[in-house]
Amino acid sequence: MTETPEPEEEGAQTFADLGIRADVLEAIEEMGWETPTPVQRDSYPLAIAGHDIIVQSRTGTGKTGAFGIPLVDGLLSDDGDEQALVLAPTRELALQSAREIAKLGARRGIDTVAVYGGASLEQQVQALEKGARVISGTPGRVLDHLKRGTMKASRLRVLVLDEADEMLSMGFAKELHAIIELLPKKRQTLLFSATVDRAIKRVAEKHMTDPQFLGLSGDHVGALGIEHFVYMVSGVGRVANLMTVLDTEDPESALIFCNTKAETEQVSAALQRAGFNAEWLNGDRPQREREEVLGRVRREELRFLVATDVASRGIDVSHLTHVINFSLPVNVEQYVHRTGRTGRAGRTGTAITLVDPTELGILYYLRLQYRIFPVERTLPSEGEHRTRQEADRIAMIDAAYPKVPTESELALVRRFMTHVDAERMLAGLLGAFFGAETEDVDKVAASRRRRGKEHVDAHSTANGNGQEPAPEEAPTATLYVNVGRRDELKASELGRLLRDRTGLKRNEIGRIRVRDKHALVDVPEDRAQEVIESMAGAVLKDRELEIELAKSD
Ligand code: AMP
Repeated sequence: MTETPEPEEEGAQTFADLGIRADVLEAIEEMGWETPTPVQRDSYPLAIAGHDIIVQSRTGTGKTGAFGIPLVDGLLSDDGDEQALVLAPTRELALQSAREIAKLGARRGIDTVAVYGGASLEQQVQALEKGARVISGTPGRVLDHLKRGTMKASRLRVLVLDEADEMLSMGFAKELHAIIELLPKKRQTLLFSATVDRAIKRVAEKHMTDPQFLGLSGDHVGALGIEHFVYMVSGVGRVANLMTVLDTEDPESALIFCNTKAETEQVSAALQRAGFNAEWLNGDRPQREREEVLGRVRREELRFLVATDVASRGIDVSHLTHVINFSLPVNVEQYVHRTGRTGRAGRTGTAITLVDPTELGILYYLRLQYRIFPVERTLPSEGEHRTRQEADRIAMIDAAYPKVPTESELALVRRFMTHVDAERMLAGLLGAFFGAETEDVDKVAASRRRRGKEHVDAHSTANGNGQEPAPEEAPTATLYVNVGRRDELKASELGRLLRDRTGLKRNEIGRIRVRDKHALVDVPEDRAQEVIESMAGAVLKDRELEIELAKSD
């Protein structure tokens, strides 16, 4: 295997710079691709020059274009005789590639056909007979066609192995070798794989000719455009931890990975109960339901897809902003695959993983082998109040002095703020306000903010200097409100309306959690009924509010 040096930065920067022909350039433009992704830029010259290549790249880097563009641009002869075979681990991926190559090759009259199990053989046979130039399929079905003679190997000049590592890990090694044995020796082979381990190298040694290796540097394999975060959890109450993470991070959408089928259903059910727009996908879901769920994903109607690795393979989730690992996968390669599902082509994505003490070893390998260094975040219920102390304290002062200052007060304030020692004096004033630096002040401030049942420390007392009565840890009630995220509700808007209509003070309103179809807000229990009454008839986001005691969160 020949190591190819990383290209110079000043290399080709546009598709036109690569020397791609005009009709393909037009197709690329029509697809909305403006500049080549690194894997496209680096693969093109080698592929066009006729080399066999091994490209280490993951889904989302534009790898389909990396083989699709050279394929339609020049790898197949103009006389319509030569064909290309693209093998992929799943039918979704096979279909996706077929569609993308069809678009790229539309102006060159290059037909594609997707050939996969579970679909009518008859239709595929007809398309094959018509002489599609690019055949994109799954190994099992392709081998079937080759054996039946409905597909001829003799015209195949280009072989693409897409997500080769996935094909091997899904147990397609036998089919792969059998297919390749049937193909003409004189051909070009392009292999794409997120991970290049010994098994992949064996495939290359056996079936490729002097392959050029395009390795994205170690830092790039998993980290390209993705931010990695981990939350350390105890392992007990993981579903509750996940919900806290979702509330804190508030991702726009996410693919949530579970290690077992049972977990996907449990997690999805718990999320649904809490009002999140979530659905599960695993191998047990009948095909019709699977398609229904995938339809919702495609139409961007589903916010959280909870899935196993196997069930999520090959599906297009490129618009999802987050990948969340409910638990770490058992091997690091799987982590690279999972997190590769976000941060597609130029967009940044976020990967969040819940890690318990038994999983620390995998985290270590992730750092060692893939040089992925996730940033550690702490669940708000444990350590985060420390980082929020300042914000909490400011909120406390804010709540303590709601009165608009008079002109003469303002004049003094302005003069004070421009004083050279303003910071020292203000620090003294703040000290006087909060009393001694104790944890208690922060506890009160934090629980005031949260007022969540689980966070309230009923015995903590304020240590203030008496200017405002110390907040009492009154019991809170949770109210349900019938507007949510899909109405584009912001917590601050609901807070403002509550203050305006009910006279509740800022510090009397607890945490507001905006869920997909509703929101939950904590208020002092003894004011709950009154709040419900004063909110009657209020309109928010063009909707008449329904507000009632929440059943349970
Ligand atoms: P892939 O890695 O092939 O699964 O591609 C991921 C996504 O990126 C697909 O939705 C492609 O349509 C898109 N894409 C591929 N190449 C480019 C490019 N050069 N510019 C913008 N988007 C691209």
